[in-house]
Amino acid sequence: MAAHPDDEVLGFGGALALLADAGIRPVLVSVTDGEGSHPDSRSPLARDLAALRRQELHHALSRLRARVHRIALHLPDSGVARHEQDLTDRLTRLLEGCHLCVAPYSRDLHPDHEAAGRAAFAAAAASGVPVWEYPVWAWHWARPADPALPWHRAARILLTPDVRNRKQAALGCFRSQVEPLGDRPGDEVILPPEELAHFQRDFEVIWQ
Ligand SMILES: [Zn+2]
Repeated sequence: MAAHPDDEVLGFGGALALLADAGIRPVLVSVTDGEGSHPDSRSPLARDLAALRRQELHHALSRLRARVHRIALHLPDSGVARHEQDLTDRLTRLLEGCHLCVAPYSRDLHPDHEAAGRAAFAAAAASGVPVWEYPVWAWHWARPADPALPWHRAARILLTPDVRNRKQAALGCFRSQVEPLGDRPGDEVILPPEELAHFQRDFEVIWQ
């Protein structure tokens, strides 16, 4: 699951490609449509960011050659915490029959990521399903070996050169996030190259 359409590719996209190559088709839950990434932009692109970001995710999954069953919950971007119980209830139903729940890191220092992560844990506990968490925002604020992060339960997923290339292509599909929307205040890039670099490595990290 992802709080916004790009988190799953940033933090777990290589793994989605590896799963596809293994013939596994997971359910991908998009909690919000990510419509709140540029609240002050007056760019025409900002008029329907939800549709744009859903489309970007579609292209990114295609470049990954990830095969997923997509479910969009359309909760409000920047407002997931207000709907946490509803999200928990819906995830509990979705987790029926599942073997694993992969969710945003519940201490990522992003309110939506944390609310989605907490809801995943609550739903998974009710369903008896293990949870893996993937950090996204933590890569931006944490220092190397930061004691705030739970390294004792970290695992590294190694990406083959082919999968890394596919992930690189997929990341380029999120143009509303990796490029400025325009040239006016409010159009600023969300993921500049120095932050994108965390997600271009030949491994991904999850907390088990
Ligand atoms: Zn996000």
